[in-house]
Amino acid sequence: MESYLQNLKDNCLKITPRRKAVIDIFVSNGSRMGPYDVYGKLKKRLSTIGLPTVYRILSELKDIGILVQSISEDRQLRYSLCTLPDVHHHHFTCRKCSKIEEVEFCNFKGVSRFIEKKFNAKVEAHQVQIEGLCSECK
Ligand SMILES: [Zn+2]
Ligand SMILES: [Zn+2]
Ligand SMILES: [Zn+2]
Repeated sequence: MESYLQNLKDNCLKITPRRKAVIDIFVSNGSRMGPYDVYGKLKKRLSTIGLPTVYRILSELKDIGILVQSISEDRQLRYSLCTLPDVHHHHFTCRKCSKIEEVEFCNFKGVSRFIEKKFNAKVEAHQVQIEGLCSECK
């Protein structure tokens, strides 16, 4: 929990009771949840919260890497907690059950070097979408 709160600070997001409650729900449930699931659980703690606020907080937490977004087979948004928010890594998403695995392996140095050489550019960041079927779904 502490490292997620630190992560908020590092990204200039205030630690508000609402943001904290959303993170806490993911930490204590540990599962994939859609905006409505999160909203339902939040409503019990913070009765004044509205669904648009939940959407906004989920998207903020996704932008700073605390949550990982995936889309389930029935085209619903799902969010999972990233357990390595401080480390550069990638995610493998199962396209069937939208389970997310942490991939602490990055092999992009070669690609970056290729781009820098070919375009005489400087590569600063990259995002990769890795999808497939998990061990239970394949
Ligand atoms: Zn992660
Ligand atoms: Zn799966
Ligand atoms: Zn990488």
